[in-house]
Amino acid sequence: MIFFSFPQDIEQLHNLGEHNEKDLISIEGLSYRINGNIQHNPVLPPIKDIDSLHFTQRDLISLETYKQYYRIGLKRSSDVIITSRGCPFSCKFCYSLTPGYRSRSPGNVLTEIGKIYKRSRGLSIVDDNFTVNRKRCITILEGVLKNN
Ligand code: SF4
Repeated sequence: MIFFSFPQDIEQLHNLGEHNEKDLISIEGLSYRINGNIQHNPVLPPIKDIDSLHFTQRDLISLETYKQYYRIGLKRSSDVIITSRGCPFSCKFCYSLTPGYRSRSPGNVLTEIGKIYKRSRGLSIVDDNFTVNRKRCITILEGVLKNN
């Protein structure tokens, strides 16, 4: 029984079908229960090029269903986006356990924002630390203004 997973490539899980233990062992980052025992497969290092990740398939998600969670400070429903992962600092009190800092390119972020804008006029950037790279941050925000 699979109960919890963070595999790097979710398609591997999708393609499993009738799985057996040999299939499950081959998926990095997967935790699962088999014959009553919990197994944790080795975890891969974080993906460096996060531009290579697919955009969220927002058409599968109803904004209405989730609007109570994502209207931070807004009276209307809003969508969310993550443009970077982690943080270059390591404050002792921080909740974030993601090692290192990795960011998406401004072009990649603006392409996704363009797709979001077609269905939602509110957007929350929920990075741990959006403003780490000032130049990247300004390029993204200027791009948003330019694309109206
Ligand atoms: S996210 Fe904030 S609190 Fe956490 S390590 Fe970075 S700067 Fe420190």
